[in-house]
Amino acid sequence: MANISYINGVYCNIQDAKVSINDRGYHFGDAVYEVILYNNGIFYDYDGHIKRLFNSLKLINIKFHLSEQQLKIIIKNLFKLNRVNFGSIYIQVSRGVADRNHSYFELNSNPILTMIVSKKKNNIFDDIKGVRAITMFDNRWSRPDIKTTQLLPNVLAKTYANEKNAYEGIFIDSEGYITEGSSSNIWMINNKNEILTREIDGKILSGITRKTIAEFAKKNDFSLIERKFTKDELFHSNEVFLTSASSFVTPIVEIDNIKINNGIIGKTSIELRNLYFKNFMN
Ligand code: PMP
Repeated sequence: MANISYINGVYCNIQDAKVSINDRGYHFGDAVYEVILYNNGIFYDYDGHIKRLFNSLKLINIKFHLSEQQLKIIIKNLFKLNRVNFGSIYIQVSRGVADRNHSYFELNSNPILTMIVSKKKNNIFDDIKGVRAITMFDNRWSRPDIKTTQLLPNVLAKTYANEKNAYEGIFIDSEGYITEGSSSNIWMINNKNEILTREIDGKILSGITRKTIAEFAKKNDFSLIERKFTKDELFHSNEVFLTSASSFVTPIVEIDNIKINNGIIGKTSIELRNLYFKNFMN
């Protein structure tokens, strides 16, 4: 585990990085975040993640004090200090410290920026493993498009999935359509070989990995359809996979104890995963 973290201007050992118990992120989940993957000097989809961070800040009216350039310097410093070759960075900005009060009207608190670097095992070249998933009702608030730290439904969903020996919980909306995973976007390939993923309709997070994979798919002459699909369509699909900055492209081979493609990882999932890694290699 890397242990130099960052907290508002200070690089320090993670044990010494302390936030006030009056931080609004702690009280209300009044904070936004990003996770960016790092591999040997290269940040995956860096610009997309930073742009989304600034957009999340804007969406919840946090007046952030740093520019994109300043942020980049800190992020690069952290990777140097931690001597991490392969890992990720967690970036969080909370509205700041204040006496507990729901409203932030005329608060003028100073945002708190914290960053944690995590070292990961580089398994890019390992054999790809397919994972299991289970479906569950999407009981989140109506703004899952904002990347806030207010993630209790996602936390419960992922834990429930893990308890059932599954890697991911897949949310289903009140009309029976798949929204997304508890921490990923969901894709399927139908028997016409079309790649489907839900459109950005405010009911899912606009995943940065999703955007990159969609671009690769189009560039490589796959036919891509952005529309919502049902659980039944998933069960009858040729391939299912998920995308996220931490899980890249991960094939799903079983959902609710039903095997997809007889439990065999599909070739398009593998192709897209390889394209994703290749794109960011030196
Ligand atoms: N949806 C949710 C709910 C997520 O938490 C994540 C990962 N943060 C994603 C989708 C995937 O987004 P990204 O590709 O930007 O990591």
